[in-house]
Order: sequence, then structure tokens, then C-alpha cells
Amino acid sequence: MCEGCASHSPIARRGVLKFALTAAAGLVAQQLLTANAAEPAKSENVLSPDAALDRLMKGNARYIEGLSRRHDFKHEREALSKGQNPFAAILSCSDSRIVPEYCFDTARGDLFVCRVAGNFASDDIIASLEYAVQVLQTPLILVLGHAACGAIDATIKTSKDGTTLPGHLPLIANALMAAVAAVQGAPGDLLANAIRRNVALNVEKLMATGPILKSFLDDKKIRVAGGVYELTSGRVELI
Ligand SMILES: [Zn+2]
Repeated sequence: MCEGCASHSPIARRGVLKFALTAAAGLVAQQLLTANAAEPAKSENVLSPDAALDRLMKGNARYIEGLSRRHDFKHEREALSKGQNPFAAILSCSDSRIVPEYCFDTARGDLFVCRVAGNFASDDIIASLEYAVQVLQTPLILVLGHAACGAIDATIKTSKDGTTLPGHLPLIANALMAAVAAVQGAPGDLLANAIRRNVALNVEKLMATGPILKSFLDDKKIRVAGGVYELTSGRVELI
């Protein structure tokens, strides 16, 4: 068979198609990874991991005291229309009483917030955090639990009475069960202990998850921390 015939055979055409698709996928991936390579939208958000955590905690101190800054949303719009470089990614519970942007006194473009009831690191959440770290160059991930978490309370109740929650709710309870089981029989309040353990377990999970998060962590380009929000004071206690 001549070269011309070979290139027109079904097998060869499939090879060409596969190559074209692979090249296209590579181009998309390259565009994704370089999407934020230009000048950062907020230069003040280019921080070391420790400085990012310090800024979060200083913002929380202002929030606790009722001294939150006035944020000029109008003048930030143009810069943020061109890109984003949030200085922290927050994995928070969906609870309506927890508002990361308020509790750390931050503005638009500052926090990359992933929320799910029970603040646990599902595959979707991990992928979102990988995007923040790899593409947006976010230096800090904070897993933020909170007092009186209904998702963890419901998990404790189902583990006690053996009932199954309706609908898709077991997906959440299953994800939180390890934290509840780990503190069964420990001194102190079961719910408070489970909330803290859930944060700790998810910090550990994120730190061990490769290839992106673990690699950035090993290179000391990011830090993964955990905290619990106290409803009465608004204080975030790092754990
Ligand atoms: Zn909650």
C-alpha cells in the first residue's frame, strides 16, 4: 500500500483524528493554565501563605469588633473584569449564618469560596480548590467549620438511631460519619468535638491529595489551615 493509501485508511484517519483531539485538548488545558498569567487583578492579594492567613485573621478581628472596612465595590469592577487572584480559598459550610466574605472583612476578588453543607472535601470541591491553586495562584486554603453545624448534628443523630436520611442527604452524612465516629466516647461535647475533627480530617485530606495540592504544599507555595467559626462572637479559632 502506498503512503497516500495508508493515510486514507480508516485506521490512519482515526489516528489523525485522535491526534487532532489530543492537540485541541492540550490547547484548552494550556489556555486554562495560563488564563491568569497576566498582571494580577489585585496586586495586594499577591501574598505568601503565612501573610494570607495573617490577613484573614486581622479581617476577622475587625469583623468581631464591628469595625469592618467600607469596601469600594464600584472602583474594583474594572480590575476584576479582567481577572482574579484571590488570596485565600475557603471551604465553608453552606449554613446561611456563615458568610466568609463578611467574617474575614474581605471584598470581591479576595476569597475563592467553595461551600457544601458540612464543609467536606468532595472530589468536586477538590477540583475547585485545585483550580484556585494552580490557575489563580491562591496561596492559602482554609477549611472553615462552625459551631452548631446542622449537617454534623444530623449525622450524629443518624449514627445514634440508625435511621436513613431522605433524598440525597445520606451523601452528606456518609461524608461526615468518619469525624463523628472518631470522637465517639471522647470527653466533652460530641457535636463540638465532631465539628473540630471534621475540619482536621478535611485539612489532612487536602494536604495529602495529589497531584496539584500536595505538590504545591511540598514546594511551600500554599498552606492548608483549619478553623471553626463561633456563632455568638463571630470569632474564627484556628485549630
Ligand atoms: Zn454547617
